[in-house]
Amino acid sequence: MSDYYKVSLDEAEMPTQWYNLIPDLPTPPPPPLHPGTHEPIGGPDLAPLFAMALIEQEVSTESYIDIPGGILDVYRLWRPSPLYRARRLERALGTPAKIFYKYEGVSPTGSHKPNTSVAQAYYNHQEGITKLTTETGAGQWGSSLAFATAQYGIECEVWQVAASYRSKPYRKTMMEIWGASVHPSPSDVTEFGRQLLAKDPGHPGSLGIAISEAVSMAVDDPNTRYSLGSVLNHVLLHQTIIGEEALLQLDKVGETPDVVIACTGGGSNFGGLSFPFVREKLAGRMDPVIRGVEPASCPSLTKGQYRYDFGDTAGMTPLVKMHTLGHQFIPDAIHAGGLRYHGMSPIVSHLYEEGIMEAEAITQVECFGAAVQFARAEGIVAAPEPAHAVAATVREALACKESGDEKTILLGLSGHGHLDLASYDDYLLGGLVDHEFSDADLSAAMAHVPII
Ligand SMILES: *Cc1c(COP(=O)(O)O)cnc(C)c1O
Repeated sequence: MSDYYKVSLDEAEMPTQWYNLIPDLPTPPPPPLHPGTHEPIGGPDLAPLFAMALIEQEVSTESYIDIPGGILDVYRLWRPSPLYRARRLERALGTPAKIFYKYEGVSPTGSHKPNTSVAQAYYNHQEGITKLTTETGAGQWGSSLAFATAQYGIECEVWQVAASYRSKPYRKTMMEIWGASVHPSPSDVTEFGRQLLAKDPGHPGSLGIAISEAVSMAVDDPNTRYSLGSVLNHVLLHQTIIGEEALLQLDKVGETPDVVIACTGGGSNFGGLSFPFVREKLAGRMDPVIRGVEPASCPSLTKGQYRYDFGDTAGMTPLVKMHTLGHQFIPDAIHAGGLRYHGMSPIVSHLYEEGIMEAEAITQVECFGAAVQFARAEGIVAAPEPAHAVAATVREALACKESGDEKTILLGLSGHGHLDLASYDDYLLGGLVDHEFSDADLSAAMAHVPII
């Protein structure tokens, strides 16, 4: 195996359980609170929004949860996903580090998101739900849910952030191919959307606004549930198949990582890749540095506060303790749409608070530069979101070159960028700008965060 480039798993070697990190944590993350009473919420509070099986997973204290056969069968379309050794990138950088990347771009939608959309559509279908609503930023999540609902024959209605709806028409086409209906958000189909459009007909929208619209449509119909593509415990749970596979693959070539790097928007690809490694770290079986990478213009971990806040802009969701820039914060229109969220997964926020992981914020020009270097060496064009993880990997590999350290780096390459070529075009033409993060905007948005 000395000169391998790709480490594959057979279908029969695919993990058949998801891993729940919570029981292994030194202390549990604080519970979500009811937005009205500020008391911890229970399963029944969430029942209008989510399938019961998903609510049980959200609060589960079991370490491992069996993946039903009806989900494994769909996973087999693209799983196990490949792990590559980036030998050409290592040579191009002249680094003594070994770089591995776990590639989720092989799924039907080109990202890690179907790992959870398939699970969510499956459980809702099992419980007789006939329609799912959701929001989408760049379109990755909406297309992943559209693909998944098509697998089980349920309807899908998507609110897409208006700025992306206009600039990324191909994602909308993909959603429609899989049978979903798509609205730009803010839309004229919800009360909240109509209020915002009245103030600004050209409103660019935000993920928080689109969540408010999708949630309101779900709670109004007993046969409809809402579906979220990141942040929540059950979403990160479904993504852990990524890290479980990567552990098996690294074991095949006798490697353990010194650094695990993934981008963090709401935390799902990061959690999915890293949580099995966090388990190994907490158990003393290995000691990798776990690093999340976020955009400098939407830095919820590195600049946000650890507070109870709403998941959406209108303030309809439960209050969750997380790193937040404030639910009314509207980040600059950077190209990594999937990383433009004001909050962060409560588990990831808790890991950061406890010092179990670290975080780094990088500006988009550096990220596209690293992604172009990666593409020229490895061939794969990364999506703008994992381009942040690629940039952090390049930084780490160059630091190894300085120090002579032969570290093993594991990079999460959460998706390809074939539908993001317009942003690469901007970069190549030199038109891409770095947005300064404004502390004044942060203070203004934090002023609306409830005091608990
Ligand atoms: C949505 C998306 C992300 C960001 O979401 P997380 O929940 O933080 O993973 C990252 N990469 C890709 C390819 C995405 O589509």
